[in-house]
Amino acid sequence: MSRFLSKSALAVKPYTPGEQPRERKYIKLNTNENPYPPPPSVLAAVSGIRTGDYRLYPDPTSSDFRAAIAEKYSVEPEQVFAGCGSDEVLAFAFMAFFDRGDRVYFPDVTYGFYKVYAELFGLMAIEIPLKSDYTVDISDYFGLHGHIFIANPNAPTGICLPLCDIERILQENPDRLVVVDEAYIDFSGEESGVTLIDKYDNLLIVQTFSKSRSLAGIRLGMGFGNAKLIAALERIKFSFSPYNIDRTASAAGIASVKEEHYALKTIDAVIKTRERTVKTLRLKGYEILPSGANFIFLKGGAGGAEIFGYLKENGVLVRHFDAPLIKDFVRITIGTDEEMDVLIKTLEELS
Ligand SMILES: *Cc1c(COP(=O)(O)O)cnc(C)c1O
Repeated sequence: MSRFLSKSALAVKPYTPGEQPRERKYIKLNTNENPYPPPPSVLAAVSGIRTGDYRLYPDPTSSDFRAAIAEKYSVEPEQVFAGCGSDEVLAFAFMAFFDRGDRVYFPDVTYGFYKVYAELFGLMAIEIPLKSDYTVDISDYFGLHGHIFIANPNAPTGICLPLCDIERILQENPDRLVVVDEAYIDFSGEESGVTLIDKYDNLLIVQTFSKSRSLAGIRLGMGFGNAKLIAALERIKFSFSPYNIDRTASAAGIASVKEEHYALKTIDAVIKTRERTVKTLRLKGYEILPSGANFIFLKGGAGGAEIFGYLKENGVLVRHFDAPLIKDFVRITIGTDEEMDVLIKTLEELS
């Protein structure tokens, strides 16, 4: 470590992203990417950018992109924030709404970045245990003395709360910010909380182009909320990274939302493959939590590390979290039908 590293930087335990292997060709089911490419219109939009324009800074208000999102989700552009990936939207939320020492609550099994950001920004992270069936007990979230982060569907369990439960949490914490991370909502069949932003000024919804829209390689995410909440995020953005959405990302994002039926088709294909995979593997004796996402959380006779290792040896890369509560599980991204057939066959050999 550099001798110049600050005490606060030293204290942070950084997030560990899933591997992006280069040494060998794996069936890659470890980072919840979409197995299908983005629609041709995205490629056309990106190649249609006049490269001479790259000379110029992009629009710091991302107004075309926000207008396209607003239209698609039937909200006002002032209710949309554009981020360089949803991770950036989350980071800006931490910076905009909390002071050092504030409490933030989230489940003890959830997206790892909440804890990382809490540490990075000097907050007190309080982890609320899931129930023994890995579901969130919403009554644990009533009347809390701090702000709340909920991934819905949750990661890495995949379990989704119905919108009425999210609304209950909002009602029971009217003076606390409730951030609902909907990275996987499009795969859940549940309604998005975006419909609630006019009713609750304490609600921030975060979504991403990385999963259901096949654009993880283009960093693009968005936040939805009351115009004042969004203005607060803008304030941080203009204090940190005013040109956070580049010309390529903006063009790709706009083309993506304009071709809605394409995303719906790939989402549908992923859901069908997920249901088939779950059914087949349960018949083989694997335990799988009910998933509303583009991944499954699976447990078998062997331990999680063993399943992970065996699959990797056989060319299938999944994710294992070495944390006490979930060490028996592996998280498996839903790939194409052909990829899942290889996964199923390999798991059969193991059991
Ligand atoms: C993948 C993921 C994100 C991050 O998405 P990006 O937009 O690629 O930064 C955020 N939250 C959850 C729960 C995720 O799984």
